[in-house]
Amino acid sequence: MGEGAFVGVYAPNVYLVLGDGKAAFIDTAYGKDDEVRAQLGAWEALGSPPVAGIILTHRHGDHIGGAVRLHEATGGPILTSYEERAAVDAGLTGGKVGRVVRSGDTLDLGGTTLEFIETPGHTLGSLCIYLREDSVLFSGDMILGTGTTVISPDHGDMRLYIESLRGLLDYHAAVIAPGHGPEIYAANAKIQSLIDHRLDREAQLLRLIGEGKHTIGELFQAVYPELHPGLHDTARSQIRAHLNKLEQDGGVQMNREGLWSVRESRPS
Ligand SMILES: [Zn+2]
Repeated sequence: MGEGAFVGVYAPNVYLVLGDGKAAFIDTAYGKDDEVRAQLGAWEALGSPPVAGIILTHRHGDHIGGAVRLHEATGGPILTSYEERAAVDAGLTGGKVGRVVRSGDTLDLGGTTLEFIETPGHTLGSLCIYLREDSVLFSGDMILGTGTTVISPDHGDMRLYIESLRGLLDYHAAVIAPGHGPEIYAANAKIQSLIDHRLDREAQLLRLIGEGKHTIGELFQAVYPELHPGLHDTARSQIRAHLNKLEQDGGVQMNREGLWSVRESRPS
C-alpha cells in the first residue's frame, strides 16, 4: 500500500529492552505460537533476566495478544495506562493487568529507565514509553513507521491525538520505535509533519463544508475520490473523528438531520 494508506502491511513490532539485570517487553503482537516462541527465545538468549514489565501500549489485539503467555512464562507483570486498563483487561484471556501507570511514572531496569507518557488519541489510554538514557521513544500506534494512524471516533479522539503529538515534541527523541514499520530517526520532523497533516485535513474539511458539502458521504467523495473500497469505512470514520474535533472547537455544528455546517460567529 502506498502513502496515505490507513493500514500498514507491517506486522506489529515487539521490543525487548534490557537494562543491567532486568528486562521489559513493549507490546506482544497477536500471540500466535511462532511469535511467542520468538519472543521467549530472544529473552532466553539474554539469560532469562527478571522481567519488570510486559508493557502494552494500547488495547488493540495486535499488541496485547501475547501478553498472558509472556506473563506465564516470565512472571513479569502486565502493565498499561490507568485509562486503558479496563479495555485491555477485556481483551485478555486468562490474565489481567498487574500494574497501571500515569505520565511521569518510571520502570527502572538497572541503569536503563523507561518513562511512561500518556498519549490519548489513537485510543483514549494510549501509552508511549521513553527510554531516557538512549532518547528512544516507543510510540505504539501513536506514530507509525509507515501508513497513517487511525483515530477511531468511538475509542479515540482527534483533538487529544494532536495535543499528544505536540507533547511528544518536548522529548526531542533521537529515534522513534513505532508499533508498526521501521524506526524513525528525524523524530521531531516526523511528529511535526503528522500534526501538519491533520491540521491540513481539518482546514480542507472546514472549507468543503463551507462550500456546501453537508454530509460525511459528500465530504468523503471530495476528500478520497479514488480510495480502495476496502478502506472506505475507515476513511469515513477518520472524517467523523475530524468533525468531532471541529465540533468541540466550535468550528462546525450538526443539525437534527445530521447535516454539517460551518458555525457562524455571532455578532457581538
Ligand atoms: Zn492500534
